[in-house]
Amino acid sequence: MYVYECPACDGTSDPYLTPWGARQFGAEHRDAEHAGLHPRGECVVPTAQRAPQGREWVAVALVALILLGSLVMR
Ligand SMILES: [Zn+2]
Repeated sequence: MYVYECPACDGTSDPYLTPWGARQFGAEHRDAEHAGLHPRGECVVPTAQRAPQGREWVAVALVALILLGSLVMR
């Protein structure tokens, strides 16, 4: 997961799965808050909140199937 950080606002975006998502947020933030200017020190950084890795995706898929199955069974 990746976040956009703006030192000028002392703010951090919500986490995004990809750095591109965080960069897109940064671009929208610059346009809305800084008239398109790049705040000094802005950056996209990896965060500890990470996406599932490797075999963790199996557990995520199983939980999703169970939840989906419970919805279909109703
Ligand atoms: Zn800002």
